[in-house]
Amino acid sequence: MDTPTQTRTTDAPALPRFEMSYAELPARFHAKPGLSPVLGPRLVKLNEPLARALGLDPAVLASREGIKMLAGSRPPNGAPPIAQAYAGHQFGNFVPQLGDGRALLLGEVVDPQGRRRDIQLKGSGPTPFSRGGDGRAALGPVLREYILSEAMAALGIPTTRSLAVVTTGEKVYRDWPLPGAILTRVAASHIRVGTFQYLAARGDTDGIRALADHVIGRHYPAIGEGAGRHLALLEAVIAAQARLIASWMLVGFIHGVMNTDNMTVSGETIDYGPCAFLDEFAADKVFSSIDRAGRYAYSNQPHVAVWNLARLAETLLPLIADDQDAAIAMAETVLRGFQGHYEAVFHAGLRRKIGLLLQEDHDVQLASDLFALMAESGPDFTLTFRGLVDELDAPLGEGPVRTLFATPAAFDAWSVKWRDRLSREPGRDAERRETMRRANPRYIARNHRVEEAIRAAEDRSDFAPFEKLVDVLQRPFDDQPDNDAYALPPQPDERVTKTFCGT
Ligand code: AMP
Ligand code: MG
Repeated sequence: MDTPTQTRTTDAPALPRFEMSYAELPARFHAKPGLSPVLGPRLVKLNEPLARALGLDPAVLASREGIKMLAGSRPPNGAPPIAQAYAGHQFGNFVPQLGDGRALLLGEVVDPQGRRRDIQLKGSGPTPFSRGGDGRAALGPVLREYILSEAMAALGIPTTRSLAVVTTGEKVYRDWPLPGAILTRVAASHIRVGTFQYLAARGDTDGIRALADHVIGRHYPAIGEGAGRHLALLEAVIAAQARLIASWMLVGFIHGVMNTDNMTVSGETIDYGPCAFLDEFAADKVFSSIDRAGRYAYSNQPHVAVWNLARLAETLLPLIADDQDAAIAMAETVLRGFQGHYEAVFHAGLRRKIGLLLQEDHDVQLASDLFALMAESGPDFTLTFRGLVDELDAPLGEGPVRTLFATPAAFDAWSVKWRDRLSREPGRDAERRETMRRANPRYIARNHRVEEAIRAAEDRSDFAPFEKLVDVLQRPFDDQPDNDAYALPPQPDERVTKTFCGT
């Protein structure tokens, strides 16, 4: 019998009760693998502001039972956790079954604003989708995802978030033993282009309809329930992804592994594996050690996005129209709309980056000329744009940006055209400066800093560099005089030229 008046002697306040709307979809969409408890879970990072924004009590998450839950070692209150099924094109090759091989959806919370968010563990142990993998994650990639995803959020770019990092007290074996860790990831959902492909590959039109309607209800409720809703869904995902990729391009972010299983239908950035920010500008820049052909190079990202979205469109064709040719024609029309959505965001962002508050015909050309100039001598992308703020006050030829270029006179020549353009919108200086500061971050998650933080944590259990970096990147647009070193590109001996997948 319950004895509710008995005093609690542990530090175990009630864990939150999670919802699980995804489990209401047909059973073939997911598996229920059960838990794989770990030896010695230790909470090394809790994102308290995010916890509060989700309506979760940080003290509960940091309690003994909370940590066990974040380590996948005790079930949350609510429905049993699930692993989601998905497929995907990896570097262009279709793999009909991927799925959560090392992740577990703990449940969903509806935050105080009414937004539903997935709470997922990554590195929590094997599932039926593990395909021979150990289902585990090493500390380094977990910290990398934490740093990068939180940096992206602070830049205002749609992204999954990181709620917590727990070390497991166990080793994972890659080329050598590494400390194991589990990331708690928060997402609008974990539904991917590859989730649709999983069902399409099985000819499961009823499943696709159920999934599409779930996605509409969850991410695009304005679409409603009418007959044209699946075409409208495709269009909405295309627009969301176009906006997302444009926002990546504006800050020099390279995702690195834009497989269709790593592309959400919500429009959030997901799966921070071999991703990195550009230091010196190069349009064909690739960091990923496995992307030898440059498929996911910086400048290819908009094209790859369209390719991926065409794969999504294919899965929706049977729902768009009974006549396949008609469905294809309609899908092609909305796919062509990507460019317009992309350019609307990219061009507006370019204008802000170079401080133009009014609109003239050749503004985008002016910005493109700067990109072309950067392509010639590879100045630091972030310093170049942030430096334009200081150029506003400097006489021609005396600002900070020219010396970033191999041929400073070439920058001066561009600057003459830029200053001429600025002369046609006098006044509003404070607004211009603020607009430029908000469009041109001073602090990005530079690869060598990420690497430094990972090395300290993995090699010496020293989390101070990780904490410091996360802290600096929370305010990417502010001048932080004490943290100026974090704005600098790597010294030659600090350069990280390759990044590796999280596996
Ligand atoms: P990713 O490279 O993170 O996009 O993962 C691609 C696929 O490999 C997904 O289905 C993952 O679940 C799976 N996977 C990656 N690492 C592991 C692992 N250590 N154990 C099992 N499955 C994994
Ligand atoms: Mg993935």
